[in-house]
Amino acid sequence: MTEDRFYKELELLGISLSDIQKKQFEDYYKLLVEWNQKMNLTGITEKEQVYLKHFYDSATLVKVIDLNKEDTLCDIGTGAGFPGVVLKILFPNLKVTLVDALNKRILFLNHVIEILKLKNIETVHARAEEYAKEHREKFDVVTSRAVSSLSTLIEYSVPIVKVGKYFIPMKGDIAQEIKASERSIGLLSVKLECQEKFVLPVENSTRTILKFRKEKSSHVKYPRKFSEMKKNPL
Ligand code: SAM
Repeated sequence: MTEDRFYKELELLGISLSDIQKKQFEDYYKLLVEWNQKMNLTGITEKEQVYLKHFYDSATLVKVIDLNKEDTLCDIGTGAGFPGVVLKILFPNLKVTLVDALNKRILFLNHVIEILKLKNIETVHARAEEYAKEHREKFDVVTSRAVSSLSTLIEYSVPIVKVGKYFIPMKGDIAQEIKASERSIGLLSVKLECQEKFVLPVENSTRTILKFRKEKSSHVKYPRKFSEMKKNPL
């Protein structure tokens, strides 16, 4: 059964779920399928795929960080809540902020938060580069899954990370991306502490999680406006 496989894979990550958490994942899955009929939230709705490709994949962030020891997490470009909502279910201690530029996704997330009775979680309808101007050095962990090139992500995500804390993008197969981001890594003063490459169970696609530590405050000129980032990437 799909759920059993999911629980088993989570146990291999050191996570065991309470009955409340299992029910929260069930409700989340149902809402995703229901709302996906009226708006585009995800290309996959088959149960095994959602549990193993979205839910389990989101949980793999714990391969590089102990979230029991962190206080605040921001998920940039969260879409239907991946990884932010999954991590909130798994770590109720975390204060989570979900940012997305598309308001219809924010409406979905507000409904999920209400039905799952999640506390200490907020949604923000904004572009990351605008949000970053107002919320500098606020978070212990900033993450982002399948949103943009690494170089662009670094420019608008790192300014909101506290000095000494972490930016942890979740990517597919990144091959050349780190090399192509050397300039932004230097300009935004982050250091790559580790990278974890693995394949997802069942579906077997490659995943890479990068853990960057922020070493110094980011210059106020970052992030630049969207048009400038696009015209002249770092
Ligand atoms: N993170 C989710 C996941 O893994 O399923 C969603 C990925 S989806 C491919 C990209 C999401 O990022 C979309 O919901 C889009 O609206 C959002 N997005 C893209 N650029 C953004 C930006 N500059 N600021 C905020 N959200 C952005």
